[in-house]
Amino acid sequence: MKKRIIIRFKRKTIDKPIVYRLARDYDLIFNILRANVFPRADSMMVLEIEGETENFNKGIDYLKGLNLDIEPIEQDINRDESKCVHCGVCTSVCAPEAIYINRENMKVEIDYEKCVACELCVKVCPVKAMSVSFE
Ligand code: SF4
Ligand code: SF4
Repeated sequence: MKKRIIIRFKRKTIDKPIVYRLARDYDLIFNILRANVFPRADSMMVLEIEGETENFNKGIDYLKGLNLDIEPIEQDINRDESKCVHCGVCTSVCAPEAIYINRENMKVEIDYEKCVACELCVKVCPVKAMSVSFE
């Protein structure tokens, strides 16, 4: 399985070699999509993790055991459906094509498993429908 997650660190856990342990102990492949790391404040990282389901679940349990906050990426990317007019502007800046137009109904949809947390969709949306709360 392959999933994108957001990990939030407290100051005291910033020095733990967590991605190394995910690879070595749980045989997981990881890709760091984004990292905001601050030595004197809480930090965050967006990771794509791939591996056998059992290993993936064990790896997540390991992270939770360190008292890290783990969330699926879709939890922090929001679209206000009452504001979105499905204009498609955000699709033009989304390089991994996580936002796309569904040609059957011409609605703009989001595939969270492709999102790399760049926040460009937030910046270009003319009606401020997109919001990201990675920090
Ligand atoms: S740019 Fe904004 S209004 Fe247009 S489709 Fe994207 S989220 Fe909706
Ligand atoms: S944050 Fe970036 S990658 Fe994710 S949906 Fe928005 S534009 Fe696409």
